[in-house]
Amino acid sequence: MVRKIAIYGKGGIGKSTTQQNTAAAMTHFYDKKIMIHGCDPKADSTRLILGGKMQTTMMDTLRTMGESGCTPEAVLETGFGGIKCVESGGPEPGVGCAGRGVITAITLMEKHGVYEEDLDFVFFDVLGDVVCGGFAMPVRDGKAEEIYIVASGEMMALYAANNICIGMVKYAKQSGVRLGGIICNSRNVDGERELLEEFCEKIGTQMIHFVPRDNIVQKAEFNKKSVIEFDEECNQANEYKELARKIIENENFVIPTPMTMDEMEDLVLKYGMMD
Ligand code: ADP
Ligand code: MG
Repeated sequence: MVRKIAIYGKGGIGKSTTQQNTAAAMTHFYDKKIMIHGCDPKADSTRLILGGKMQTTMMDTLRTMGESGCTPEAVLETGFGGIKCVESGGPEPGVGCAGRGVITAITLMEKHGVYEEDLDFVFFDVLGDVVCGGFAMPVRDGKAEEIYIVASGEMMALYAANNICIGMVKYAKQSGVRLGGIICNSRNVDGERELLEEFCEKIGTQMIHFVPRDNIVQKAEFNKKSVIEFDEECNQANEYKELARKIIENENFVIPTPMTMDEMEDLVLKYGMMD
């Protein structure tokens, strides 16, 4: 059975980085078969897996070749550890709805049966929040069954995470989607681990892993590689290995219980006053 996972979180929080490194760890250390479907118009969800290559996107291919030309052969590429990669892409800047493109791209890949072929995990790397229909789609229509939210101890990251949970609650009953946990991608904020633990407890989930901030992430990125490919023995590679293992073994799936705005403010204030 393929497990379909969507990664959400505030823009710039580290979704694409965390997801590619986790995928790389899953294949490298645990021999899992993985596909990454980038659902951000920026189309930067697969670069570390493909050695820095900007992938031709599905939207571009649709524009130039039409639907009959937008086949898995045309848009799928294989990178590190045999990870299959595809990017939805976006509309021409200023024209059309990017969310719409995500719906088109996922529907087309489904039609070709690519998510079912000999895979253990499919990752959808989705843009920031679930406000717009297209970006909510992996959740709404049950395209992804498991959600992980990347967050940190920064206030805006927590507000975004809470909003994503509010969006999830709306769709969880009909689609069956469940929250598998919060990934803390550390920003070295004071009291960060405790703040995240408390946030997770309030919304009824687990902090599945605390990923430290480490410059080797940038170093690997400059070298157009995941941390795992760049230096499989470094501490950060081990952190992603741990996160990969915890996701593989995860059995904690819930419909979250988002916090009210007042509760959020109290929580932020409590930790903002510390130190
Ligand atoms: P998102 O996909 O959520 O918009 P990215 O994955 O593109 O965010 O990450 C933004 C930047 O943060 C990247 O340049 C990446 O190198 C950096 N980054 C992410 N996680 C870490 C980390 N644990 N340590 C250091 N830098 C990180
Ligand atoms: Mg991204």
